[in-house]
Amino acid sequence: MTIDHAARRARLAAALPAREVPALLVTSPVNVRYLTGLVSSNAAVLVRADGSALLATDNRYIDKTRALDVPAVEAPDVAGRLAAPGVGIEAAAMTVATFRRLEAGLKEGGGEGGGLVPLGPLVEELRAVKDEAELELIRTACALTDQAFADVLPLIAPGLTERALARLLDNRMTELGADKPAFDTIVAAGENGAIPHHAPTDRELRAGDLVTMDFGARYHGYHADMTRTVCLGPPAAWQRDLYDLVRRAQRAGRHALAPGAAAKYVDAAARGLIEAAGHGEHFRHGLGHGVGLEIHEDPFLGPSRTGRLEDRVPITVEPGIYLPERGGVRIEDTLVTREGGPELFTKTTKELLVL
Ligand code: ZN
Ligand code: ZN
Repeated sequence: MTIDHAARRARLAAALPAREVPALLVTSPVNVRYLTGLVSSNAAVLVRADGSALLATDNRYIDKTRALDVPAVEAPDVAGRLAAPGVGIEAAAMTVATFRRLEAGLKEGGGEGGGLVPLGPLVEELRAVKDEAELELIRTACALTDQAFADVLPLIAPGLTERALARLLDNRMTELGADKPAFDTIVAAGENGAIPHHAPTDRELRAGDLVTMDFGARYHGYHADMTRTVCLGPPAAWQRDLYDLVRRAQRAGRHALAPGAAAKYVDAAARGLIEAAGHGEHFRHGLGHGVGLEIHEDPFLGPSRTGRLEDRVPITVEPGIYLPERGGVRIEDTLVTREGGPELFTKTTKELLVL
């Protein structure tokens, strides 16, 4: 499946009149990639309301632009090359220093028609709904993630450190064909499981630990995100109860995913079960987030999130319960919203694995 970058630029162009700008100067590298296919750390693209576009990058990447369907120019100052009076800019992707420099340049040039117009997320909104080519890449990223977990599972045993286990997962994903890990892998054993974003340490896994692993593969720029919690040795009653509760909450969250569902309603479907069990204060993060060219992107699921889901939105569902000094459980899948029910991308079992 090939990606139609021109169609993406046309969708952006169609959104510009409502923002009252003749063009958008896109400087976010991931948004430049989305609109042109150019993977670089220094490029900008000007997309005009008539659908035409001009790409600028420096001499390191200019050769790569020849294969693209958009005209390109070489410039050391990519944003400066494309800035023009009255065009919109991505406020979240430009530093104040660059903004001031570009505005000063426009004034010097005697540009009529005012300065640059800072705008909110425009390309990000377009990116939330994926096309089938993108979904295929995310599906593959998730399959690599599942496979890496299956391959590493027999190696998880007392004595292995959190860091060593994280390395095993990272290496296996790369060996299987991932670009690289989608983010810094989390491995949290025992009491460390009470910290949702714990960075792996030299703590050794021990019998009786719940061990939470949050990891994912990146494939052709697209991200996977999965969390599983396993138990080393037979679980204590509190560990099994905690696991069962998170599992039921995760299932409720998955079942609430639907085109048209309010973001806060999906969050509440899972959170309500955890609150009813008296653990509301131990679940302090949102239920999930969109995934795509970035690991965290629109839309976000949480109690104070506004907006509704659309069709073909890849998103995570990841409730967790974290008991200070004791440990925690999180179960996370990547799915995509579909008419008729979500498609599950991460397929590793959610039974409690006792190792
Ligand atoms: Zn995760
Ligand atoms: Zn996540």
